[in-house]
Amino acid sequence: MLGAIIGDIVGSVYEFNNHRAKTFDPFFHARAFYTDDTVCTIAVADALINKRPPAEALKDWGRRYWHNGGWGGMFGEWLQSDDASPYGSFGNGAAMRISPAGLLAETVEQVTALSQAATEVTHNHPEGLKGAEATALAIFLARQRLAPAEIRSTITERFGYDLDRTVDDIRPTYRFNETCQQTVPQALVCALTATDFEDAIRNAISIGGDSDTVAAIAGGVAEALFGIPDRIAERGWGYLPADMRAVLERLYRQG
Ligand SMILES: [Mg+2]
Repeated sequence: MLGAIIGDIVGSVYEFNNHRAKTFDPFFHARAFYTDDTVCTIAVADALINKRPPAEALKDWGRRYWHNGGWGGMFGEWLQSDDASPYGSFGNGAAMRISPAGLLAETVEQVTALSQAATEVTHNHPEGLKGAEATALAIFLARQRLAPAEIRSTITERFGYDLDRTVDDIRPTYRFNETCQQTVPQALVCALTATDFEDAIRNAISIGGDSDTVAAIAGGVAEALFGIPDRIAERGWGYLPADMRAVLERLYRQG
């Protein structure tokens, strides 16, 4: 989960100013900040850990950190309205916030159940549910120490995503896209072909597109695959306010 948050922070300055290369320094840009991806990830963790209805937790955290901005149009409207019914979204927000489900699940069935519970309150389109579940399952399988190639074949078999491309294959033609279908497979390739955590985030930034979200999805999976080097983890923790840190600490005690 910290991996997703770090991906969001590193990607924050490139979302509307893509940097299509793996070389950028420093790793945390001076103007980097956490965005809606982090706020929603914290909300999902809070919901799953504390058995809060996910819609309530998302609205609570989203309104508390409304000023952080970057909200998707329909999601922003949903956050501000009193109506809690889902709106059929297949936006990549479903996948960028789901890492807590992959970390807390103890079985594949639980991955499905937790992912569905956190997703169906907004992203109840089949592609939204699929994008979230595929991301959570990749994290769960990485925790079970499956090799990246096995994770790739399992996800492809189960969800039909094409994960056979490389980052270099994806980069030349990839464009900004906020759907699960055009974000999740690309982000998974960035993590599953990486050599370590930092390399996965650099892969994610290098393809362009919705950089904070691509990197958040890749970062959650990369954390489960490789762990996060202490120096990077410490920087990530340092961005978070106390109420977010408390949720993250509780998740790691439980997960
Ligand atoms: Mg964002």
